[in-house]
Order: sequence, then C-alpha cells, then structure tokens
Amino acid sequence: MEDSKFNMSTEYESILQSYAPLIVEHLPVGVALFDARNLRMVATNRRYPALLNVQWQQGRAVGHHLTEVLPASVPAEEASALVEIFRRAAETGESYHYEEYAFSSIGRGMTYWDWKLDPIYENGQVSYLLLSATDVTPQVEARLRVEQDHATLAQAHSAVEMEKQRIKYCEIILSHLRNMSEPKELASAVLTAIDSCFSPSLQALYVVQPGQDSLSLLASRIHDDVVQDEASIFAPFISPKDGFFPDQMMCQRDPVIRRKYQAGKEKKEGGAKDALLALPALEQVVYFPLWKEQQCEGILVVAFAGEDKVNDLLMKTLSTCAPRLAEALIYARLHTAVADEKQRLYAILDQLPEGILLVEARTSKVTYANPAAAHLLGVALPQFLGVPLNQSALMSPHGLSKQNQKLAFRWNFALIHALWGRTITNQELLILRPDGSEIIVLSSVAPIRMPGGMISGAVIVFQDISLLKQLEQQKDEFFAVANHELRTPLTIIMGFAELLHLRAGDSTDAMYQYATTSIMQECEHLLRLIHDLLDVSHLEHGGLKMKKSYQDLLAPLRQTVDKYAHTTETHTLRFILEDIEPADLLMGQFDIPRIEQALTNLITNAIKYSPVGSEVEVGARPYLKAGNVIREVLIWVKDQGNGIASSDLPRIFERFYRADDTSRSAGGFGIGLYLTKELIQNHDGRIWVKSTRGKGSTFFVVLPLQEAIMERAGD
Ligand code: ADP
Repeated sequence: MEDSKFNMSTEYESILQSYAPLIVEHLPVGVALFDARNLRMVATNRRYPALLNVQWQQGRAVGHHLTEVLPASVPAEEASALVEIFRRAAETGESYHYEEYAFSSIGRGMTYWDWKLDPIYENGQVSYLLLSATDVTPQVEARLRVEQDHATLAQAHSAVEMEKQRIKYCEIILSHLRNMSEPKELASAVLTAIDSCFSPSLQALYVVQPGQDSLSLLASRIHDDVVQDEASIFAPFISPKDGFFPDQMMCQRDPVIRRKYQAGKEKKEGGAKDALLALPALEQVVYFPLWKEQQCEGILVVAFAGEDKVNDLLMKTLSTCAPRLAEALIYARLHTAVADEKQRLYAILDQLPEGILLVEARTSKVTYANPAAAHLLGVALPQFLGVPLNQSALMSPHGLSKQNQKLAFRWNFALIHALWGRTITNQELLILRPDGSEIIVLSSVAPIRMPGGMISGAVIVFQDISLLKQLEQQKDEFFAVANHELRTPLTIIMGFAELLHLRAGDSTDAMYQYATTSIMQECEHLLRLIHDLLDVSHLEHGGLKMKKSYQDLLAPLRQTVDKYAHTTETHTLRFILEDIEPADLLMGQFDIPRIEQALTNLITNAIKYSPVGSEVEVGARPYLKAGNVIREVLIWVKDQGNGIASSDLPRIFERFYRADDTSRSAGGFGIGLYLTKELIQNHDGRIWVKSTRGKGSTFFVVLPLQEAIMERAGD
C-alpha cells in the first residue's frame, strides 16, 4: 500500500515537473521571477504582462529592472516605494503581501490587485523573488459598490431623519405664530420656540420700521454663556459704523452666516477674527432676513457660542419659517394699528352726545357702549360690556309706558334685528329705564359687515328726543287751540260778510260790493291756510285720513276750475280737454274734497305767481300707459308767470320751502305744494313740474283710474 502511494506521488511529481512550465503558463495568476540581487526580471508567465497591461510582450521584459517593467501609470514616488519593498524582501527573506493594490491601467481604468512577493532560496541565500499578482478588480468593485450603496442609504436615512426633525421644529415654531396678535408678544413667543429647538446662546428679532430704513428690537433672549449686559451685546449687531447692518442686511434675500474664525482655521491658530463678533463668547451668528414678497419685514438673529451649531437643520428650519414669520409680523403690525385706530375711534365716540352700542355677531355680546348710551338708558357703563343681548332684558324692561300710554321697546331687540341683517333708520322708540323712568329716542340700527358681506356685528345709535316730543306735543296743543280760536271768529266774520253782501243785493254802491267780496275772499284764504296748517300737523302724526270712494273725477275738476274762473278778476282761466269728451266719466277711487284741495293749491299758486291779466290753463287728457291701456288721467295747470329757478325746482315740494324773493312778496307758508304732493301720492298718483325762468310753469298730476274712460250713461 505504502509503496503504491509512494509510487503514485513520485509519478505525480515527475508529471508535475515535466508539465510545470505549462501549468505556470495557464495559471490565472500573473507570475514574474526577479533576480534578488539586481531586481531584474528573470522570467514571467504569459499572464503577467497581459494582466498588468504593460507594453512588454512576453519575454521582452526579461532582463529589465523592476522600475522599467512597471506600468507607466505608477507614479515615481510609488515606484520607488515598490522597489524598497522588493529590496527589503531580498534582504530579509520575508514574504510580502499587498492586498487590493490599485492602479489605473491603460484601457481598463482603475484595477485592483492582490500581489505577493515570495523569496526563493538557493544555498540558504535569497536568489530570486517570485511575484504573483491576482486581479481582484471585480471583487473589489463589487465590494465598493455595496459600500457605496450603504453610504447612499445612510445618507438618505440621515436626510429623512433631518427632514423629520425639520418638520417637527417648523411645527413647534410656526405653532407659536398662531393666535399672536401683538408684535412683541409674537416675537418673544417665537424666540422661546427657537430656543426649545436649537438653544442658541443669543437671539434677537428686529422689525423694520415702516417707511423708515431702520430696525427696532422687538425681543431678545440671552443664555448665561453670553455676557449679560444687553446694551453691549446688541451693539455688534446693529452698529451703523460697520456698514453691514442694518442697511445691507435688509437688502439680503438669503440668510447670512458670520463666523468669528475663518472656516478651517483653528481657534488656537488665531484665525482672522470677524470684528463684528466682538463678543468673546459668540463664534457663529446667522441673520435671517424676513421677507414677504418685495418687502423685508425684519431680521431674525441667532448666535451660538459653539462652532458646529450652525448646521443644515438650523438653516433649513429657520429658512422655512422666515416667510411665515414675516407674514405674522405684518399681521401683528396691522392688528396693532387697527387696535390703535379702534381706541382712537372709541375715544371720539366716548365724547358724542348720542348713545352708541356695538355688539359682536359671534357672541352677541356688547363690545362697546359710550357714556351717553349708559346715561340715556339709565344703566351703569360696566354693566353693558360683555353682556350678551339675550341677558340684557333687565336693562331694558318691556311694558306699557305710564306717561305715554305706549308700549315700550327693548333696545336689545333692535340690535337683534340688525344682527339678522336689517337696517332701520330714524325709528322712534319709547324706552323704559330700569328705574321706571322713560325716554323717547330716535334710533338707527345697522349690521356691520366684513368685506365679504358677512355680518360681524351691529350698531345702534340713538338720541334723546323726549324734549323735542314734548315741544311737538305743545305745538299740537297750540294748533288745536289756534284752530278753534281762529276759525270761530273767522267763520263769524265770513257769515256777516255774506249777510252784508246779500243785503246789498243789487246795490249799485260798487265800493260796498267790493268791500264785502274782499272780506269774504280773504276770510276764505285765511280759513284755507288754517286748514293746510292743520293738515300738515296731521301728516306728521300718522298721516291724513282719506275717505276714498268710487267716483268720477271730471265733474269736480270742472267745478273747481269754474269756481276760480268766476271769482278771479285778475286772470283768465281756461279749461281744456284733450281726447276726453265733456260728458265722459273718469272713474276711480277718489277723496274728491282732497283732490279739489290739491287742484285749488295748484290753481291759486298759478294765479299768485303770474302777472295780472295773464292766462291760466287747466287741462286734462288720457295718459297712455305701456300697451296703450288708458288707466290714468293727466291733469296740468299752466301759467305764464316768472317760472321757478332750476336750483329751486328739486325743493319746492318740501315742507315750508319757498323759492326766491319774488314769491316771498306773494305771501304764503310754503306748505301748499307739500300738501298737494302728499294728497296726490295718497291717491297713488304722481306730481311733477316743468318750469322755465320767464316763460311760466306747468304742474302735472297723474291720477290712476279704475276703468277706461267711459261715456256718461244717458248722455
Ligand atoms: P307758498 O305758495 O305758500 O309759498 P307752496 O308750497 O304752494 O307755498 O309753493 C312753494 C314755492 O314754490 C312757492 O313759494 C313758490 O316759490 C314756488 N311756486 C309754486 N307754484 C309756483 C308757480 N306756479 N310759479 C312760480 N313759482 C311757484
């Protein structure tokens, strides 16, 4: 057995010996043999030059020194290091192993090699050095790729972590911007939030003064590691001398980082100091300009004692928050301006004699009441404020007034109406005070709307008109007495004048006739005036009472004209009908005496305001409505007087309005046209005037008819 084993190994050895050169040639390893004495190449296998990609063909390198057969890409320094390794191996006889030796070979780029240098002994001496090199490029590349992937993953992971942290910090800081309405309050809340995230040694928030290019400090926070003297601390940030702050900083769009020591230089080396950071403790300062669109609103300053605190997380977090902080500063400034304005307005309203109350729609609470309101409503001022409208019942009792026998109104109801969107102007309200006394006020309520139209509150304004009402009552009483006191003697005078006139009969005494007629006419004029004044008084107290019935208008119209045609000696009166037959009926709902009163006013004015001897024309014609349906009649009274100035025209229907001096000489109270308009409007009619200076005036009246114009039955 042993023999056969021995024989077999001998057999193998001999095979190996005879095939050794062939085996070496086919090894995937590059092999080269160097003479240990002179480091010249003695032999290589075919693989060696192929793997190293040297220009040497097999065999041609033989005899050349190591330095000559090295690839050209190996730099000189490295080449001599390699020679040194070879020398040492030759001297010491120790093997040398180099793993993943990298060099860039022509046409292949970077390649990696594991190579080994083994000494070969002859007679106890190192005579050769055997270099075997294995190409490990694919393995190294695969490993590098894995490492690269790991690094990318780690990078992505840390980016995600940072992003998460950034979002968290942004949330913390931005949450402090909400519900902050006052700039200083806002600033200190933001600095507290930044402190909780990054703990800067020093922070300051400056705001740009609107209209001025200067900054003012809103809030600051300083940690113990910094000098506590604020004045000296902030000097470096705002010194106008350095020319950097504030002017240049307010023009910066991006954050600016300033370091005390130049980057990369050790403190100890005494890197160039930034003069701006004169404070010993601070080493890094970041200025964040706070921009909103085209306007820099302020500057946020964060400073650190340490060198490495200004990192990506800080920069990204505060850069994200900066525009929002700018917006919040604008909002806070506006809010303060509005609050100041409100204070000023309230200071003015406090002085007004009219009572004013404001309520807020959201809570329906009284948000403002001026002293006049408190005084007029008989409630102490503090009792109003903050009280919801539905709880203010005690302040405005409901019930029947003892003095006026009227139902009292609650002012809080008026405000509730306004909160529903109703506007009520000049409403007279009787209000009972908590102490039982009462007051009449003229009040107006209106909703207060936001720009979008939503109701945000309501306002009530009221003034005490109790005295005025008292005076009005006295005036009414006076009218009632005057009516009686004047009418009675006038009626008696008129009665006797008529008697005397009749007694005169066919007396030829012209003077006597003229006197009695004049007395009668003037009495009639006076009686009419008294009637008109009474009517005006009635109008102001609930209107005139009409007694309308289905009647013809044409006959009374003709009678009125006829009456004046006969009695007026100064003018000629003409009655004309257009498209109406004298026998026609103009049927409608009329209070005939009132219509006569209106026409009389127009006719007497035409006579009064036109020259003696001129003509007054009264006419009527159908008034065509849309669709040619005649349901209205147009009546006109035309004179040849001086006319009415265009500046007076819009006002002549107003109560007590009289035009110019000419009319004043004509006498009158200025109530005739006012009453006429009211009477016509009470019949659903319309009245207007056309007048030209020097050419006369025409008054037009349109009255509705119930039927089309009819022929009188039996005619
Ligand atoms: P009064 O005639 O008593 O002054 P009215 O109310 O009847 O009051 O008229 C108001 C004013 O209108 C008059 O004062 C006058 O100036 C003007 N006026 C009315 N009718 C005429 C008219 N026909 N021609 C010119 N002015 C007129």
